[in-house]
Amino acid sequence: MNQKPISKEELFKELDYYQSMNCKYTDGNILGSMCTEPHPIAKEVFIKFFESNLGDPGLFKGTLALETKALNLLGSILSIKNPAGHIVTGGTEANLMAMRAIKNIARDEKGITKPEIIVPKSAHFSFKKAEDMLGFKLIEGKLDENYSLDIDFVENSINENTIAIVGIAGTTELGMIDPIPQLSDLAVENDIHLHVDAAFGGFSIPFLKNIGFDLPDFDFSLPGVKSMTVDPHKMGLAPIPAGGILFRDKHYLDAMSVDSPYLTVKHQSTIVGTRVGATSAATYAVMRHLGIEGYTNRAKEAMDKSLFLSENLKKLGYNLVVEPKLNIVAFNHPNIETDDFANILEDYGWRTSCSSYPKAIRVIVTNHLTHNNLVDFLKDLEEIMDKF
Ligand SMILES: *Cc1c(COP(=O)(O)O)cnc(C)c1O
Repeated sequence: MNQKPISKEELFKELDYYQSMNCKYTDGNILGSMCTEPHPIAKEVFIKFFESNLGDPGLFKGTLALETKALNLLGSILSIKNPAGHIVTGGTEANLMAMRAIKNIARDEKGITKPEIIVPKSAHFSFKKAEDMLGFKLIEGKLDENYSLDIDFVENSINENTIAIVGIAGTTELGMIDPIPQLSDLAVENDIHLHVDAAFGGFSIPFLKNIGFDLPDFDFSLPGVKSMTVDPHKMGLAPIPAGGILFRDKHYLDAMSVDSPYLTVKHQSTIVGTRVGATSAATYAVMRHLGIEGYTNRAKEAMDKSLFLSENLKKLGYNLVVEPKLNIVAFNHPNIETDDFANILEDYGWRTSCSSYPKAIRVIVTNHLTHNNLVDFLKDLEEIMDKF
């Protein structure tokens, strides 16, 4: 490190250089990101609550109250009053917390020492991290022709060591929704936990259902659903890091509580100790500011654009992997291998991403993509189709 302090001016010159290396959502060419430009309100509130430490909430009682209020707002769109839970760093931490609670409860209340958890093959890789850290066995469930978890597979895989099923509401790669109502029935019948990972879909499915989109029930209105992950920092327009973990009651948090002797609270259930409070405040603020109407308009707009894109892709001769259920469109060129196609798109200036199962180009139609961006994208795709 430098011996003498350097001036703010000099420092910012250096930082500006590094910042200029970043892609910007406003450039309109980021097609493969589940996160988007946070709402301007989010930025202001984040800075306002910048120093809050929710690891020591006795010192930040106001921010703690805002965390609870943010959770209650999340609960209100996911059919639960006063959920237990936390605003955490993202879907990964939320899923880890859910798996930890489930594993502890199965150990302490049922004496299960070799736990198994069934997840769809389409599950986010955070469950692999959870498997590694928590020492349960992950059973990867087969998908049906719509890339959703196959119910027969789940039914046949449940045994005396099964402690939970995970259903995904809005898969990371394709935006598909597992048959959560049927999974809920299986969970209730077999007295096992159902966790719903709605990290991506949690901020659009409720609003789309409200205005008549034909999507399955997926939340706490189903009796088998005991915990849910939802990411305010994806479709919720909150700043990173903002994830939500919601449990049906406090017993799940108690199952992972440890003593925290030197703090203003004597127990902690979260994985991290010192933890960001600014995102709780910002998540609450953005949700209040937008309201149901604001999110509904955005979810509808994202779907309209997704359907515009998918219809035009078909017209140009591209192969859709599946009709989009949410705002993710996955497709392939009939004659070019996916990775090569991605490279060609990159040469045209488009930052796409690829799905792994099946292999395809994946476009997430988030808030920062305008209709004109998509028109430009389709023009390039027309040219590519003519060339190859
Ligand atoms: C994005 C995502 C996650 C992980 O969330 P992070 O915020 O990136 O940690 C988990 N599950 C699903 C379904 C996701 O789409």
